[in-house]
Amino acid sequence: MQKLAAGNWKMNGSGAALQELLALVEAHPAPACEMLICPPATLIASAAGMTARGPLKIGGQDCHAKASGAHTGDISAAMLKDAGATYVILGHSERRTDHGETSDQVKAKAEAALAAGLTAVVCIGETEGQRDAGTTLSVCGAQLHGSLPQGASAANTVVAYEPVWAIGTGRTPTIAQIAEVHAFLRAELVKALGEDGQGVRILYGGSVKPSNAAEIFAVPHVDGALVGGASLKASDFGAIVAAL
Ligand code: PEP
Repeated sequence: MQKLAAGNWKMNGSGAALQELLALVEAHPAPACEMLICPPATLIASAAGMTARGPLKIGGQDCHAKASGAHTGDISAAMLKDAGATYVILGHSERRTDHGETSDQVKAKAEAALAAGLTAVVCIGETEGQRDAGTTLSVCGAQLHGSLPQGASAANTVVAYEPVWAIGTGRTPTIAQIAEVHAFLRAELVKALGEDGQGVRILYGGSVKPSNAAEIFAVPHVDGALVGGASLKASDFGAIVAAL
């Protein structure tokens, strides 16, 4: 299985930031893993144009569940694809919190992504309160089964385990906690998809940085990372790519 280093720029970056992509590709012309950056939608076409012949893939951060229509301000999966994206992040905790997205909605969006030929990166993860209450596995299991698109396979779907309390906080779960959740998710993926579930990449996300990447990537069933803050600088993201 080819591992995946995915960067989520969130609502950061202007045209000038695209220089970071060029620096990344220049420093890692033939990475051992797949490299993906998901810039804001305004930059997808230029980013994809700049990196078209390189090893860097470009993705969106969200899409609408419908293919087209009267949905002001929204973007369809086909539009992302048309702009040059090959992946889309769905159900990020900031979307679930800021926009009240439910797993049902995430599933519908992921199905739209697959229909458009994009690979869906489906995000799940517990809040700090849920971890303290001992419900991490049941919360993650419910989000996983509720958000997985019909037709999900190792070829078209990636799962990102992102504890909400670890995103952008500099805090990470212990290695044992990451191992427990990833092993659980692998078993749940096999339950849902059969043997193909063995091949679905499960990313860890939440305060991954150059200094902790290698230790996290050594955990069984950690097949890459979804990286927020550290993806904004080519040198930091490149160090994470090199650790995979
Ligand atoms: C994220 O937003 O998906 C994320 C993991 O952010 P950070 O790496 O900054 O914690």
